[in-house]
Amino acid sequence: MQPMRLAQSETDERPRRARYIRDVGSVEGVSESEVEALRKVTEKYAFRANDYYLRLIDWSDPHDPIRQIVIPRVEELNDWGTLDASNERAYTVGHGVQHKYRDTVLLLCNEVCGAYCRYCFRKRLFMDGNDEVSNDVSAGIAYIAAHPEVTNVLLTGGDPLLMSTRRLVEILGALRQIPHVRIIRIGSKMPAFDPLRVLDDSELQATFRRYSTPEKRIYLMCHFDHPRELTDLAVSGIDCLLRNQVICVNQCPLIRGINDSSAVLDEMFSTLSYVGCPQYYLFQGRPTQGNEPYEMPLVRGWQIFSEALQHGSGLARRPRYVMSHATGKIEILAVDPRYISLRYHSAQDPANAGRFGVYRRDDQAYWFDQLQQVAMPEV
Ligand code: SF4
Repeated sequence: MQPMRLAQSETDERPRRARYIRDVGSVEGVSESEVEALRKVTEKYAFRANDYYLRLIDWSDPHDPIRQIVIPRVEELNDWGTLDASNERAYTVGHGVQHKYRDTVLLLCNEVCGAYCRYCFRKRLFMDGNDEVSNDVSAGIAYIAAHPEVTNVLLTGGDPLLMSTRRLVEILGALRQIPHVRIIRIGSKMPAFDPLRVLDDSELQATFRRYSTPEKRIYLMCHFDHPRELTDLAVSGIDCLLRNQVICVNQCPLIRGINDSSAVLDEMFSTLSYVGCPQYYLFQGRPTQGNEPYEMPLVRGWQIFSEALQHGSGLARRPRYVMSHATGKIEILAVDPRYISLRYHSAQDPANAGRFGVYRRDDQAYWFDQLQQVAMPEV
């Protein structure tokens, strides 16, 4: 069976809402024996998907990349990593409020997504007993108002676009009352999981037009992982965001079995540049518990990334390959037969800002903490 591409003409008859599915046993393409084998996984790590996204899966291919994004795997139970691999708790300054870098505050305002990506680095938020998200952002708004150095606010979670439009209008309005907040970012995979969320909501579109002004923009930090997610409907969704004054960029992790191919990344980076949503980060997957089947060693990741950047226009070759480490965003600059060169792109401690380091090449290493720094001779 060929993967389905949704044609623009289907938008005429489209349902107003995606239908959400929380039981993997209800997914037609997953056999009963697979459901049984996955029971322990789904008891531990939540499953959620929707009918639009499931229709993108080629069920005749057990390795289909779209399938890998949302359908659980038994290997998620492998003993590997920690739930909060970047120590986000250390930068939590209030309920649902993170402040790691001087200029930027994160509001974790929703704990639901359009589907749950199996490799999510915040899967702890979807687990029973987690209380890191706050739908009530009043404490976060007060914190931001009291910190004039904060020029950027990122709404995240979970997926903020799963909130009601009424709540989003309230939050965006409250942030626009704070003069020093210039950029509002919304981190969302809804442009991939359910493009109709924006396409079908004229009130949300009007809110974007109102609050994304020439001096203070709203950015949609999209999350496309694979070019097959860029259906005609998804491209229409990006176009809708752009026409409503929202600036679009894309960021995603490098994920084993999903986009760990230079041809796939090349195609995705190029297509995103054509449609006005250029890639700006490719993340090395964090060593998060449950994510072992989705992770790539750093050196192999860098090779795939650098090969992908050999084609396309400069606009398709802008992304940086980074690790979101507890101490900052660390860019992987180069790998040679003996060394790996890294640099802090953003540093939590200003003393590390822009710091460059050379590390012994280790083809088995997945994360910064596994690397051994090489002492550089004084010049
Ligand atoms: S959309 Fe983002 S937050 Fe939600 S499951 Fe996927 S990676 Fe995690």
